[in-house]
Amino acid sequence: TMAHSKALLVLENFIGGRFVPCSSYIDSYNPSTGDVYCRVPDSGKEEVEAAVKAAKDAFPIWSSKSPLERSQILNKLADLIEHDLEVFAQAESKDQGKTITFARTVDIPRAVYNFRFFASSILHHVTECTEVATMGCVHYTSRAPVGVAGLISPWNLPLYLLTWKIAPAIACGNTVVAKPSEMTSVTAWMMCKLLEKAGVPPGVVNIVFGTGAKAGEALVCHPEVPLISFTGSTLTAQRITERSAPHCKRLSLELGGKNPAIIFDDADLSQCIPTTVRSSFANQGEICLCTSRIFVQRGIYNEFLKRFVAEAKKWKTGNPSDPTVNVGALISKEHLEKVRNYVKKAQAEGARVLCGEGVDPLALPPGNQKGYFMLPTVIAEVKDESCCMQEEIFGPVTCVVAFDTEEEVIKRANGVKYGLAATVWSSNVGRVHRVAHRLQSGLVWTNCWLVRDLNLPFGGMKASGIGREGAKDSYEFFTEVKTITIKH
Ligand code: NAD
Repeated sequence: TMAHSKALLVLENFIGGRFVPCSSYIDSYNPSTGDVYCRVPDSGKEEVEAAVKAAKDAFPIWSSKSPLERSQILNKLADLIEHDLEVFAQAESKDQGKTITFARTVDIPRAVYNFRFFASSILHHVTECTEVATMGCVHYTSRAPVGVAGLISPWNLPLYLLTWKIAPAIACGNTVVAKPSEMTSVTAWMMCKLLEKAGVPPGVVNIVFGTGAKAGEALVCHPEVPLISFTGSTLTAQRITERSAPHCKRLSLELGGKNPAIIFDDADLSQCIPTTVRSSFANQGEICLCTSRIFVQRGIYNEFLKRFVAEAKKWKTGNPSDPTVNVGALISKEHLEKVRNYVKKAQAEGARVLCGEGVDPLALPPGNQKGYFMLPTVIAEVKDESCCMQEEIFGPVTCVVAFDTEEEVIKRANGVKYGLAATVWSSNVGRVHRVAHRLQSGLVWTNCWLVRDLNLPFGGMKASGIGREGAKDSYEFFTEVKTITIKH
């Protein structure tokens, strides 16, 4: 009805510094109520074409600014987002289903920090120089921005991951066309309203909203976008690799994980248990770095399981805007079904569901009855070959299994196609280093989880990705290097 549609939030593309309406739209749901509350442009080739043109036009001026000038603009943008932190957090929670607490303490502060971090790091890069006296030559490298960067981001950490790409891309002097997930576009659109005030010239940041199949592919296939930074699923990355291959594009791919936690019998369980509950269920388990396979050494297995389940049961699932809630809504009805099906499959295979889905009652407030909620679920006695131990579930589900030896657990931990993040719990220093070296994983956290220094490389091995991002890595990805030789 008209009255209903009037209440909807309607987003517009942001191209060349202006908001531009689109001819067709996609419905976007509030995951905690199940209601359509927002309409997102269903952009395609035409919109992407206009955005690439705007980005190309803006490139000569933006790329010739000094790093210091760009740095000041990034810092200003960080200040503006921080000033509106609460409004952004509310919007992210409503759009994505995550708890307001998580959005307030993780997503939006990190988006602010992404701009501050790259505003600073861009000032500190040096290029290489070698002198080869026997040849009478000096060689040095110079780095220049690549051009129009295509940035594609997922729905789990919407503004956090989008700004993790935009910040280094524009700090290096590129201009960008970004496409957030069609399921979580609101905070990107809100950020566009701050760009002019921050001093970002028109055309430097363009955002085109829409689906992966239409808007995403148009960007991936555009001949004048030489570089694509993508975060999302391994399946989509394969498609992007194929579609971009004819253009020899530079790709950075940050993909899925099936992250192990390895818990030795000398671990400090008082630290390990709450952290592993958090690493399993934070953001509804919808973080690429979440733990989903917990290997516990046999001697402490029963005690661990008992205490772990008790701790998981303390996590409250419900209305994301309730500050006492730990677990919000999953992103969509389809995703909730997919996650639930994994639990059913595990049960059918003879595994034991110790708490959560299908075992404990889920009481929801009246306004959230149609939301996409699920309790934190712990499964034990799952076979390593089971799909629950092999495939990325990306929900509040974690599997706990026992192991005997170090040798055995390394082999089992490495026995999946992914290699993103691992955690190791032990108080034996030598063992921690040995195990960390042998794990096939881009990141290894010991006696902690999700502690990041943005200076250092982030990314995955095997099916978890190609390339790394971080201060130096992002700089290298978003610039083209040239070696110049001078004979004297
Ligand atoms: P997805 O691959 O379905 O979508 C990611 C983005 O790609 C969206 O913007 C989508 O619209 C777009 N897209 C889809 N098909 C496309 C195509 N053919 N061409 C171009 N773009 C296309 O992933 P998702 O479900 O949104 O996100 C969840 C996945 O992301 C999980 O696998 C998770 O592990 C992964 N992830 C990885 C990291 C990391 O840093 N490694 C971080 C967060 C999420």
